Amino acid sequence: MTTAVQNFLRAIDGPMTSELVLRPGDFGLGQIPARLKPVSTTSMICGFCSTGCSLKVHLDKNSEAVNLSPDADYPVNLGMACPKGWEALTPLAATDRATAPMLRQADGSMESVSWDQALSTFCDRFKAIQTQHGKDSVAVLSTGQIVTEEMALLGAVAKFGLGIKHLDSNTRQCMATTHVAYKESFGFDAPPFTYADFEESDVLVFFGANPCIAHPIMWQRVMNNKRKPLIIVVDPRRTETAMAAHRHYAIKPKSDLTLLYGLANQLINREAVDQTFIDNHTDGYEAFARHAREFSSSRVCTATGLTPEQLDQFAAEISDRTKRVSLWWTMGVNQGHESTRTAQAIINLSLMTGQIGRPGTGANSITGQCNAMGSRLFGNATSLLGGYDFGNEEHRAHVAKILAIEPSTIPTEKSWAYDLIIDGIEHGKIRGLWVIATDPAHSWINQGRFAQLREKLDFLVVQDMYTTTNTAQVADLILPAAGWGEKAGVFINSERRLGAVRKVARSPGIALSDFAIFKLIAEYWGVGEMFDRWESPEDSFQILKELSRGQPYEFTGVRDHTHLTEAGGIQWPWTETDAATDARPDTQERRLFADGRFFTPRRRAKFIFDEPRPMPELPDQDFPLLMLTGRGTSAQWHTGSRTSKSGVLRKLAPTTLYVELNPADATRLKVRAGDKVRVWSRRGETFATAMLTSTVQIGQIFLPMHFDTVNQLTFPAYDPHSRQPSYKACAVALERAARR
Ligand code: SF4
Repeated sequence: MTTAVQNFLRAIDGPMTSELVLRPGDFGLGQIPARLKPVSTTSMICGFCSTGCSLKVHLDKNSEAVNLSPDADYPVNLGMACPKGWEALTPLAATDRATAPMLRQADGSMESVSWDQALSTFCDRFKAIQTQHGKDSVAVLSTGQIVTEEMALLGAVAKFGLGIKHLDSNTRQCMATTHVAYKESFGFDAPPFTYADFEESDVLVFFGANPCIAHPIMWQRVMNNKRKPLIIVVDPRRTETAMAAHRHYAIKPKSDLTLLYGLANQLINREAVDQTFIDNHTDGYEAFARHAREFSSSRVCTATGLTPEQLDQFAAEISDRTKRVSLWWTMGVNQGHESTRTAQAIINLSLMTGQIGRPGTGANSITGQCNAMGSRLFGNATSLLGGYDFGNEEHRAHVAKILAIEPSTIPTEKSWAYDLIIDGIEHGKIRGLWVIATDPAHSWINQGRFAQLREKLDFLVVQDMYTTTNTAQVADLILPAAGWGEKAGVFINSERRLGAVRKVARSPGIALSDFAIFKLIAEYWGVGEMFDRWESPEDSFQILKELSRGQPYEFTGVRDHTHLTEAGGIQWPWTETDAATDARPDTQERRLFADGRFFTPRRRAKFIFDEPRPMPELPDQDFPLLMLTGRGTSAQWHTGSRTSKSGVLRKLAPTTLYVELNPADATRLKVRAGDKVRVWSRRGETFATAMLTSTVQIGQIFLPMHFDTVNQLTFPAYDPHSRQPSYKACAVALERAARR
């Protein structure tokens, strides 16, 4: 490594990590050497889910993490943390951490190389592909797991510096639907709620959401509700949340859009609409009401499996305008073939009843990853950095001015979405792929196809904490990245709260922060000067503030990272003017639309609707069961690349794949509890242990998404508006396997 590069790394990433010694086990609970006594404490936001809990990390005399505990003073989690939060430090010490760049050799083996060789190879190979096949032939798949400053820098370096046209991220798999639904209905991707609304509602309805295990701290906030709320769950499966609710409407899978239109019709019939709110604050209601009238009780009950009495009861429960009604959704809605219209049908219910902008109300999307919200604003994928429009010349000039770059370096069109990038690989248009902190070989829908596509890539780079993810194992080059806790930056949580992440541990070997890697790639590519202003995550936060100025999410009133920690996080919007007039941002619970003014040009929300469409793959004679997927336990996170590294978390979740099967189906198929069964679809097969339970309906099975063979079965259907994959429902067959 050259002295120049060493100096450069010192400048942007603190002490050279290669001078430090990797000490596996330093950071796990119960592994605290006597020499590591906590002497101080800092607060930072958890790096798993979008709840955004604050954790107090206790530091030794070298300012390195010893252990942690939940932050009792933080307005999000109020001293609570789920198992993943408690174990957040443990995955840093895993033995499969990527500690040095690795390059695939001619004989197929991977060998450690210097950063200099790795970065030179990265640039040489991708430039050669672009020269031979065009600029469009290299693409990026990124993540909702890195800090906002890194996301923004990646988007800027990749698109404006390297000329990469197509960049998308794994937030396409979880939050694209919500992004599009809010943007179309409200004029901006603006979740309206604050977590206090969990405690302020009289009626809470959860559509396709299982917060008991997927967002357990949010569920605790529901349990804190002193108003004795009615809790309603709409889900085909009797989930943990459904069991804890007062009502469970177990509709047929993917019949939620029809149900929501039917409820709208019922509200009209009951004269439960808020005509004043509709007249003053919305557009398109008359056409929507005509559409909703087509959804008679009999039509809705046939489609959903509910009885007319259940539908009537449901409508009655959400129609009392003296009550505060909040509607919540997450992946059960977002991961569907008509998901955007389904999310908007939920929004329509809130709009037509005027249940928005007040405590305990709202059409509220619960986000997935810790920084999916940061990705939605600064991912630079389908929206230009900061929520702007690639196709708008003024927007390009504005962003270019803030970034001090030439406007001509900004593409005039948005990226292909994730699935179109995958199509591009299949059709030979994408020949080079750079994957950052995600594992598409595990998590992308219809996984078998992804495995075949690897052969079509001339060069695959994986930038990750671990060498063992499915995608890293087939990479040509691995760039070792620091993880959560090993770098600084900002996350934005589900309720729009910005919170700071701190560096409390040293990354192993010569792994670097993603921020430092992006800066180095720009340097080696020959465009480093374009990003001189991005000196550190702290400096880059000031750039993001400028990008936010005048936008619905403006946060120019946030001073810096330290301000976020001191204030207990700050929800957007928080402008300089707000900061000058209110000295207590930390104690405010800010919800949007209290004034009924939305972000559309007319400042009115829109009713948007469509005709429901049948599920793309229905059960038939050959594949008679419908497979549902979802989260398994609160101890598991997505592909398990981090949670599987904790012995504590492994004890809290099954370590091998299981399938939930209704006892009636089990009897018919001659399957007993604990049998090994084969589950197969038109696309692949997997083996699982049978778990007999009536939580799944007859004719349906459930598999947890955390196991890497589940996506061998899933059907590649996409919502046409958000391009989000429909993971939740496909046709499968099941039989007792020959072996147990
Ligand atoms: Fe972390 Fe989410 Fe658990 Fe809170 S609920 S501790 S943010 S994983």
